[in-house]
Amino acid sequence: MRHPDSGLGRAFRNSLVLESPFPSCARTLVASTDSTLHPVSDSLAAIDVVTLPKARTKPEPETRTDVLVIGAGPTGLACAIEAQKIGLKVVILDKGCLVNSLFHYPANMSFFTTPELLEIGDIPFTTAQQKPTREEALEYYRKVAEHYELDLRQYEWVKTVTGKDGNFAITATDRAGRPHDYHTKKVIVSTGYYDLANQLCIPGEDLPKVSHYYGEPHPYYDTDVVVIGGKNSAAIASLDLWRHGARVTLVHRDAQLHNHVKYWIKPDIENRIKNGEIEAYFNSSVQEIGLDHVILNTPGGPLRLKNDFVFALIGYHPDYDFLRSMGIELSEEQCRPVCDPVSLESNVPGIYVAGVIVAGSRTNEIFIENGRFHGKQIAEDLKKNLRPGFRRDRQAPAL
Ligand SMILES: Cc1cc2nc3c(=O)[nH]c(=O)nc-3n(C[C@H](O)[C@H](O)[C@H](O)COP(=O)(O)OP(=O)(O)OC[C@H]3O[C@@H](n4cnc5c(N)ncnc54)[C@H](O)[C@@H]3O)c2cc1C
Repeated sequence: MRHPDSGLGRAFRNSLVLESPFPSCARTLVASTDSTLHPVSDSLAAIDVVTLPKARTKPEPETRTDVLVIGAGPTGLACAIEAQKIGLKVVILDKGCLVNSLFHYPANMSFFTTPELLEIGDIPFTTAQQKPTREEALEYYRKVAEHYELDLRQYEWVKTVTGKDGNFAITATDRAGRPHDYHTKKVIVSTGYYDLANQLCIPGEDLPKVSHYYGEPHPYYDTDVVVIGGKNSAAIASLDLWRHGARVTLVHRDAQLHNHVKYWIKPDIENRIKNGEIEAYFNSSVQEIGLDHVILNTPGGPLRLKNDFVFALIGYHPDYDFLRSMGIELSEEQCRPVCDPVSLESNVPGIYVAGVIVAGSRTNEIFIENGRFHGKQIAEDLKKNLRPGFRRDRQAPAL
């Protein structure tokens, strides 16, 4: 089964990784004999870990910067570019690779958006077809990072942010668990939502056959797969799996697919369901997942289905605990960070929020298309606060 971490084997050849940069799917990862990473059981991990060299413990020197951006997604990159454009020193940290979330999207996906709407830093993005593929988007953001010579530190996971406006201390750990310390005047948090999957909270959800991320169809050929969800991800995965020879059952709690399902995907999935090519249970839920079966709650009563794999594609959410750990207040209902809607400065002076996290649990409100403008909003405020000769306290008071 493709797992969000699976591609990391290439990036981490010959290196020891004790902590997955994908927390929701936390599994122990160890370097195996062929130097790729494999999920392993805890007991095996313990055996392998003691045989490998110890991580270096010598502390790295501290880095000082004007602005530190947490998260190198499209928004974090846009923020870094705009801050750099006004002459500030910027460091970006990401716990995974550049645009880590996009890297973990389904392998053969195309974006819904035309390429110009994914552009950042005024760098044109053109693609062979009308919609960019994941590969094209990854290449685009690599080129943008290269063009702006961004100070991007990949595989550094920010664990703590302390201090106050003008003097924040940040500690990150790298892939070997070594600490890295940073001091910064301002912090921009753009940590996205794709790391933490919404949970079903049912028995069997932790079985290895269950995934909250869809990768690619081949491993599911000639198997019985249940896809849970009623939005784009569930519809696209169901179609892709069915087209590659899996027997697919779609289970959705509502009476029909969500009206956000794209207009070119909806008729496709609806016709597959109508033809009986994909089985679908609406107004239904999965009650329990077993090794070789699932039990559904359907309007007609409980139903036991033979099953090999389950994809629970029911959405993701920001890391609320991480935001709260910095003192950022979240709204009661939708966990939106309290912030100035123009400058995006949070209730903690000097800490800005950007990208999809601004929408809290309403993750469909902000995406690349609109989150990419947060960089300019924040840079406007930074200009007043940080740029030499343009300090807010030197401005004439309003009459
Ligand atoms: C399958 C799929 C298709 C999509 N298609 C489109 C589309 O066509 N058009 C569109 O506009 N949107 C699309 N979206 C939504 C879009 O990708 C997201 O809204 C967007 O990526 C959010 O950008 P972001 O920069 O806020 O967060 P992200 O892109 O999620 O970036 C957050 C980054 O922060 C890093 N991070 C998190 N915590 C830490 C930490 N503690 N320390 C260091 N780094 C950390 C992560 O590794 C990640 O790289 C799609 C989403 C999915 C799932």
